[in-house]
Amino acid sequence: MSLIDHILDYDSESLSQRLKKMGMPSYLVNQIFDWIYCKRIFDIDQWSNISLTNREKLKSEFSFSIPKIVWNSTSKDGTTKFLIGFKDGHQVEMVIISSLKRRTLCLSSQVGCAIGCTFCHTGTQGLTRNLSTHEVVLQFLLASSWLKDDEGSESKISNIVYMGMGEPLHNFENMKMATKIFLDPKGLGLGQRRITLSTSGLVPQIEKLDEFPPVNIAISLHSANDEVRSELMPLNRAYDIKRLFQAIEKIPLKAFRRITYEYILIRDLNDSEEDIRALVSLLNKKESKVNIIPFNEFPGSRFKKPADALVEWFCESLNKRGLVATVRVTKGDDILAACGQLKSLATKKPSKLPGFSSIES
Ligand code: SF4
Repeated sequence: MSLIDHILDYDSESLSQRLKKMGMPSYLVNQIFDWIYCKRIFDIDQWSNISLTNREKLKSEFSFSIPKIVWNSTSKDGTTKFLIGFKDGHQVEMVIISSLKRRTLCLSSQVGCAIGCTFCHTGTQGLTRNLSTHEVVLQFLLASSWLKDDEGSESKISNIVYMGMGEPLHNFENMKMATKIFLDPKGLGLGQRRITLSTSGLVPQIEKLDEFPPVNIAISLHSANDEVRSELMPLNRAYDIKRLFQAIEKIPLKAFRRITYEYILIRDLNDSEEDIRALVSLLNKKESKVNIIPFNEFPGSRFKKPADALVEWFCESLNKRGLVATVRVTKGDDILAACGQLKSLATKKPSKLPGFSSIES
């Protein structure tokens, strides 16, 4: 990994402070952010309104490298999965999920994941390293550029979910800074409601959520029963449901609004009437929403996909008892792009780098 900072590791406020320390004028931040986030020109030699001396100084202090899209594939339903290659040879995946009105980017926060959920393809590979702030932000920029090339200049990423590889709260500071850049009016200027942070339930970090920008929160619950949840998520042995909900109660909900509980529905494991009753008694009806995700089978998985009728019954039963519940339509499962199926594939055919004025990493 490069020892010098990347220019995309900073939001406008922190870059302004850094430039000040370097003896450079703070108005440069506006020009730098304009080139990167508005014009999307990464080649500093093209930043014509910045003097040559200042450009040389910036080059000596910051990296401007860009990762590569080494592979991408679009599924029958229009979901596109990408493999992104970084300078150190590691790779992560990101996915663009398309619906009529939205283009949602599911991005990764880590190379691999330490949480080891037993239903998750990514969880089988362990954690290699955290992604830096710029590696997270660049997933958005690469996806935006690809979308523009593929669908035309009007097409934009409208929403971001931190549900790719990794546990975002395990990479708290870098994801916090990346989120600030996504929200920064001088940066990408996205609305708070367009970003969803999804966590497996890391209690100490949930307790620090008042330090995180106020975006939507999703918590992977998957069962209201400790025994079943521990089977799915070994993390539950350290932070059981009682402890998790004590932490959730402290989330400043005025900012975070209704919390979404992700529930992977698995045949014969967490799909019974008893599971419904346990959920109804655990969750606060006003402040919760249940997102049911029918389990996606992957090669070697020991769990089974539920039948469509069962998924429908489970969802309706929760709704009838006053809990807002929806079913997430499974997308991209023919290319292993659906939830819990991400795992980097090292030997895929490279595709051309999308239309960046690019400096290859
Ligand atoms: S589901 Fe998420 S938290 Fe669990 S192992 Fe997979 S990537 Fe990690």
